[in-house]
Amino acid sequence: MSEAWRERLADACADRQQAQRWRTRQVVASDASGSSLDFAGNDYLGLAQDPRVFEAQAEGARRYGAGAGASHLVSGHLEVHDALEEALARWTGRERALLFSTGYMANLGVLQALADRHTAIFQDRLNHASLIDGAALSGARSRRFHHHDAIDLESLLARSESPHKLVVSDGVFSMDGDIADIATLVEVSQQHSAWLMIDDAHGVGVLGDNGSGCVGSTWSSADVPVLVGTLGKALGTAGAFVAGDSALIEHLIQFSRSYVYTTAQPPAIAAATLKSLSIVQEEPEHRAQLNANIAYFRREALHLELPLSDSATPIQPLILGEEARTLSWALQLQHKGIQAGAIRPPTVPKGESRLRVTLSARHQHDDIDQLLTALHHCQHQEALCSPCT
Ligand SMILES: *Cc1c(COP(=O)(O)O)cnc(C)c1O
Repeated sequence: MSEAWRERLADACADRQQAQRWRTRQVVASDASGSSLDFAGNDYLGLAQDPRVFEAQAEGARRYGAGAGASHLVSGHLEVHDALEEALARWTGRERALLFSTGYMANLGVLQALADRHTAIFQDRLNHASLIDGAALSGARSRRFHHHDAIDLESLLARSESPHKLVVSDGVFSMDGDIADIATLVEVSQQHSAWLMIDDAHGVGVLGDNGSGCVGSTWSSADVPVLVGTLGKALGTAGAFVAGDSALIEHLIQFSRSYVYTTAQPPAIAAATLKSLSIVQEEPEHRAQLNANIAYFRREALHLELPLSDSATPIQPLILGEEARTLSWALQLQHKGIQAGAIRPPTVPKGESRLRVTLSARHQHDDIDQLLTALHHCQHQEALCSPCT
């Protein structure tokens, strides 16, 4: 490596370390049901560990092979992909759905295909990184409105002279757990002839009567023309989909580069997802258990005066402020065999570092009690130390 490159890399790492923003990976043991308590993941219904789902995956691999072997437009679009797309369309009340390999690629592909430099994109400030990156890739004029602030959005829309306007928001905000006000977004978008795109990565499987998310069965594609959902979270597998009317889906098949120029999702994953989707639709008890766990955690955490946020979803961040404090809490939990995300800038704004606690239908009361005891201990340690600082 040349000296200039070596220095550049070392400087970037040193800065990040200094800022207490250094990221590390933990190697997780192969039996995921084993010793550590996971309050960091997004497997909200426990479907990643459901034997029916991984048996369907094994069966899918035996039947279709280990990989798709080609992109969808070449020879990689198998009948199981088609069946999954149809099931996802029906579930979300849309004409059609289109599979992508990941949610990140779905968002890049949709924004790149729909927007160009004559388009204006309006995003909630707290939108997921993949939406921000997709807007940048599209070359569109991109504006960010204050979180949940319809008045700010409205004034940006009113000032825009672009012929094509696209309003984009997370459905459930991934680091805060709060839910977008879809009704207001629909109203404001329609007033300004803008299209509305909702990325419901954390809502599908969890919210709505049939688990189809905060948009799915409630809002039609006339209201929310572009709906994105991911399969790696509540559905427990991997991949993502875009759902909408035929004109949208056909446009994406033609123009979405992250759809066209990539190998199709492994068919075994599609087979597993068909299984987990049927469980989501037929067994509402997992959602009920998840909601009971959320309510229990919140009740007990309030009692302990933990810094809870206003969230009704499985994402229950504890806002701690400073990077060092957040890291310290996460490490103390880790020592007790409990995983929770230490989320720091640039993922969240400066001064809003947080412990991202996520709940799952798989958690038992006893697991949640262990988490609460460990959190209480972190608080107690700080109370002991604060006179000396
Ligand atoms: C996780 C997430 C994505 C990315 O999905 P992957 O399938 O993990 O790539 C996109 N949008 C939001 C809001 C997410 O939380």
